[in-house]
Amino acid sequence: MNTEEDGALAFFRAQHRAFTQTLGERREREDMMPALLAQAYSSFEGNVEVQAEGQPAIACHKGCATCCTMRVIATAPEVLMLARYMGTAASTADLRQRLVEADRATRGCDEGQRVALRRRCPFIAKGACVIYPARPLACRGHASYDKRACVEAAAGRIDRIPLSMPHMMVRSLIQNAMQSALRDAGYIWAAYELNHALTIALDDEGCEAAWRAGEDVFAPAVVTEISQDEMAEVFDRIQAG
Ligand code: SF4
Repeated sequence: MNTEEDGALAFFRAQHRAFTQTLGERREREDMMPALLAQAYSSFEGNVEVQAEGQPAIACHKGCATCCTMRVIATAPEVLMLARYMGTAASTADLRQRLVEADRATRGCDEGQRVALRRRCPFIAKGACVIYPARPLACRGHASYDKRACVEAAAGRIDRIPLSMPHMMVRSLIQNAMQSALRDAGYIWAAYELNHALTIALDDEGCEAAWRAGEDVFAPAVVTEISQDEMAEVFDRIQAG
């Protein structure tokens, strides 16, 4: 194993320990999910900054939603926190209507079909993401070096954009460490398609309590291309390692 892999595994284990501690300390508390996600998002921002040192500057910035036509995948805590966040937004009824329409158009599409559809994320308003502070890890980890390439890709003229590897790697390690900690704590830890899962969360006020009680409330929205058995095997191997 090389030093880079050693570093990634050590980082995963440290993140896993930190998430496990938060879940253990706040299991019965209202603030368990906000604390878990605050930890994930601040760890992402801090570690990306370190990993991306010496790399070209990324072109992404608050207010740009050029790439936001792709499928977004999120864990149950991210979906549930977004549902809470939407409950506090001034334009909730409007947002909800856009979400329902987007879900109707995108439900069941795989990644390729979603790209081909080129349907904009329902959370874009006036060209910007209106849920920016609560956006999932998947959105945070998708960072481009070239705005022009994003525009070309969004128009379907090219199919590749130069993405930041540090963003992708740190996002993936943090999301997986959080999923692994959720699994160890007895929670459902799958990844879901955002539009569909969020529609479920907003339609059922008891969703959060049911998920906390161990129910897979978002099962109809699960992303099937990712094998949970294989992921669980990898998590166990890393922990044993
Ligand atoms: S949630 Fe926000 S950042 Fe993510 S795809 Fe939608 S508009 Fe873009």
